[in-house]
This record gives sequence, C-alpha cells and structure tokens, in this order.
Amino acid sequence: MKSALELTNVSVNYGTVSALEGVNLTIPKGSRTAIVGPNGAGKSTLMKAILGLEKPSSGHVSLLGKDENLDSLIQKKVAYIPQSNQVNWQFPATVFEIVLMGRFAHIEGWLKQPSKLDREMAHAALEKMNLQDLAHRQIDQLSGGQRQRVFIARALAQEAELYLMDEPLAGIDRLTETIIMDTLKNFQKEGKTSIVVHHDLTSLNTYFDYLVWVNRRVIASGDMTTTLTTEHYQEAYGVVDRIFLTNEGGHDGV
Ligand code: ADP
Ligand code: MG
Repeated sequence: MKSALELTNVSVNYGTVSALEGVNLTIPKGSRTAIVGPNGAGKSTLMKAILGLEKPSSGHVSLLGKDENLDSLIQKKVAYIPQSNQVNWQFPATVFEIVLMGRFAHIEGWLKQPSKLDREMAHAALEKMNLQDLAHRQIDQLSGGQRQRVFIARALAQEAELYLMDEPLAGIDRLTETIIMDTLKNFQKEGKTSIVVHHDLTSLNTYFDYLVWVNRRVIASGDMTTTLTTEHYQEAYGVVDRIFLTNEGGHDGV
C-alpha cells in the first residue's frame, strides 16, 4: 500500500491540555478518508498537526513520501479547507482573489505576480464550483454553501495531491454537498487523496472508503467495510461521555 501520510507517535498539547496522544496513523494514497470522533476529540488538531500549523510535542509526520522540510511541499501539494467557524469571513477579499491565492505557491519570482495561466486556472476552478457569477463578490456576502465552494475552488486551483477538509458539509445546502462529494470522487480518479473530518456517521459508507476513529488517540483505522463497527463507535464516543461526566463532577454521585 502506498501511503499519502504517516504519523508516528504524534502527541499535541495546548498548555496543559493533551489534545492528541501517541497517534500512529497511515492513510493510503488515493483514498477518500473520513475522520470521525466526538467534539473535542482532537480532529481539527490532527489536521493542524499534519499541516505543521500545530507543532507536535513529540512524534513524526511524513507526507507524500517526504520526511523533512515539509513546508514548501505542503504549500504546493496540500490543500486545506479549515472548519468554517475558524475562518475570518470579514477578511476584505473577493471570491476571485481567494481562489487566485491557491496559485500562490506556483507563482515564480519574488514579485509573485500571477500569470495569465494562473488567472485562467482560477477562473476554471470557479466555473467547476458554479461560482463564476460571484467572482467579484466580497466573501462576507456569501452563503455557507457558497463559502465552502470558494474554498474547494481555491483547492482545485492549487492542483494539490492531498486535500484536508475540516467538516466541509457543516451548515451547507444539498447541492453544495453533492458538488463537494463529486469533487472528492474526481480527486480519487486522479490518484489524489482526500482526508475529511465528517460529522454525519450515516453517510460514511456512501462518501468514503477509508475510516479513522479518533478520540485523543486513534481508536481504529482501516477500510470502511471492516472499520465501520458498533464496537469502534462505542469506544470512540463512549469514552468521551465518561470523561465529560468526570470533568463535570458529581453526576455519578461521587
Ligand atoms: P475537534 O476538532 O475534534 O472538536 P479540537 O482538535 O478542536 O477537537 O480540540 C481538541 C482539544 O483541544 C479540545 O479539548 C479543545 O478544547 C482543545 N483545544 C483546541 N484548540 C485549542 C487552543 N488553541 N488552545 C487551547 N486548547 C485548544
Ligand atoms: Mg474540529
């Protein structure tokens, strides 16, 4: 199995909070992978650790067969679509400008002037996401579904190999859901890998072929057919309930 990503014994802390502990994970190249787990399980942190946005306190990340100096590889080859509530939508930029930013890592020269080709690629990505009529609109004037498609268009313009999406279907319309999921299928046909934090367990089987259960550590990972089990669900979602009750204190009468 060729892998897109390998994490070895990765731990991430925020001050005294341990968000991830000893995570070992391999994601196959060309897979459509879902990451699931309860709120606060460390799913967003996992994405940020992969992207180098949060530095692990220990462990090692290897991406697309590379072990070291991952920054420029990430800029060129890894597209990230953050959780919508972590984005500053007041940022003064148009839809076209945001999508053109996807070309940034490819633009040569210290002036970083986008070429005609860069602009054409940004327009093509907008058309694929059915956003061409909104190209000059400010991003604070978009619906949730349109915003999500802007990010996907930027990812398309970037021509990445690995796509990391953090809850892309949260708060969007059905049409956008279909567009995003068709896009993941097309990525797969091109041998590209998608890793998606997903909150709807009922659609896992339809949309993804590889699954990772997370709750501070990786509970299980593997092909969807063998890994989507009640046991893993209980282990991932049950444990956090107990932690929650303990943290709240007094619920169990102690
Ligand atoms: P998920 O995406 O699965 O809901 P997160 O990765 O956002 O989980 O968070 C995991 C844990 O780390 C939670 O307990 C959360 O409160 C904590 N956390 C996340 N980001 C920060 C931060 N910037 N500072 C402090 N704690 C954080
Ligand atoms: Mg999250």
